[in-house]
Amino acid sequence: MKVHSLNLDGSTGEGGGQILRTGLALSMVTGRPLHITRIRAGRPKPGLMRQHLACVQAAVAVCGGRAEGAELNSQTLLFTPGEVRSGDYRFQIATAGSCLLVLQTVLPALMLAEAPSKVELMGGTHNPMAPPFDFLERAFAPLVRRLGVGLELDLKRRGFFPAGGGELVAHIAPDPQALAPVDVQERGPLLDAWGEALAPGLARSIAPRELETLGQRMGWTFEAGQLRQPPTRQNEGPGNALLATLEHAHVTEVFCQLGERSLSAEQVAKRLANEIRTYQRSHGALGPHLADQWMLPLALAVWRSGRAASYTCTEVTLHTATNAQTIALGLPLQVRIIPVERAMRVEIAPA
Ligand code: AMP
Repeated sequence: MKVHSLNLDGSTGEGGGQILRTGLALSMVTGRPLHITRIRAGRPKPGLMRQHLACVQAAVAVCGGRAEGAELNSQTLLFTPGEVRSGDYRFQIATAGSCLLVLQTVLPALMLAEAPSKVELMGGTHNPMAPPFDFLERAFAPLVRRLGVGLELDLKRRGFFPAGGGELVAHIAPDPQALAPVDVQERGPLLDAWGEALAPGLARSIAPRELETLGQRMGWTFEAGQLRQPPTRQNEGPGNALLATLEHAHVTEVFCQLGERSLSAEQVAKRLANEIRTYQRSHGALGPHLADQWMLPLALAVWRSGRAASYTCTEVTLHTATNAQTIALGLPLQVRIIPVERAMRVEIAPA
């Protein structure tokens, strides 16, 4: 039987690396070849960057696929998937590319496999424009586990952009019989909330100043254990991340601001406080980043079980809207996004 390829225009919607990663994941799970053109066409440096090539190479390794056009700056890729193979993988990502984005490329395929996998990743764990490790561990992985998929993440060493050098291990334990979608409509009562400052290899004053400003804005104190400076490991840094974790009964959210040379510690903290406030003003269960990243694992559970599911989120970013479009092209599903009171609802159903 002839399999129709999944044809994607990489410049539509958000037009970044996400269409590529979602496209690769959809191709691996459906067996449909992926033909993607105009990859990152609207970006200042269009085409595949090292970070994206690392995702393509990881996809090739996990399913024994073939990739034509997998070169730096290439704007066209033809990816022909093979059969997904669970097992032990090790991916080294050059130039501090994000380990987490590579993991999210192969996770959809490995979470539907017949047997467990172990994926070791080396590169960046706290990168600009990518989910930080803590977000995957505390916000994303618990939701994936609710689908009936085992997912444990072990951080060996943090790696900050641009030096990299981070390392983590992901253990993925699929259970095809248990796989089922879940609804996440409400975040539930707030159980715990705290901030953490990481600033390895930088001036000692940075982390306390960030925490102090964050504490003033959020009403969090050192005494109550709401402002923390986790120990850093050897060879970490230089780099700076200020994180906030909000543990609600039904969902945990993690917000992160990375320090930059041009930003004061106080500005970093104010940005984070604003991000938290925006989340708190809405009734949506998932924040803006979790909303775009949760869509694919949930869609796979809907597809495999034939049962519809939904979640609410604070807003629909271009990433979320683009992912909805891409998923509906790759799987026999309908994705509807509708406004509800002080939130948006994403509904995924068999087509
Ligand atoms: P792209 O820019 O297309 O490569 O996609 C970037 C991905 O990283 C999207 O899924 C974003 O939601 C995610 N992302 C960016 N910043 C953060 C953050 N601070 N926390 C969690 N996820 C993030």
